Amino acid sequence: MNKTKYQNFDNPGGSLKNKTGGWRTYYPIVDKSSCINCATCANYCPEGCILQFDSVKTKQPSLKGKYYEADLDYCKGCGICAEVCPVKCIRMEKQN
Ligand code: SF4
Ligand code: SF4
Repeated sequence: MNKTKYQNFDNPGGSLKNKTGGWRTYYPIVDKSSCINCATCANYCPEGCILQFDSVKTKQPSLKGKYYEADLDYCKGCGICAEVCPVKCIRMEKQN
């Protein structure tokens, strides 16, 4: 395909290649035993990096058999997930 006049880069990369987690100053920690599996955090995360896990397979505590956790390779630490969680089971910790 021919380049358009807007394409000044040969290999611009993408979010899978350029892990956005490196920008972070805070990161989210989920209290899995309090997570009610509502998916609000995943729906609001601007990076789309909050994933659902099966607590039976991972042997993690969870109220409804599943829990949500951020992929820290891509989490920017914005804190939106912690703000919107209805049971406040996400806390933001300072990155070392
Ligand atoms: S802190 Fe922001 S980027 Fe990271 S998981 Fe929460 S909503 Fe997503
Ligand atoms: S918003 Fe809170 S309760 Fe809902 S899935 Fe995310 S961590 Fe669990």
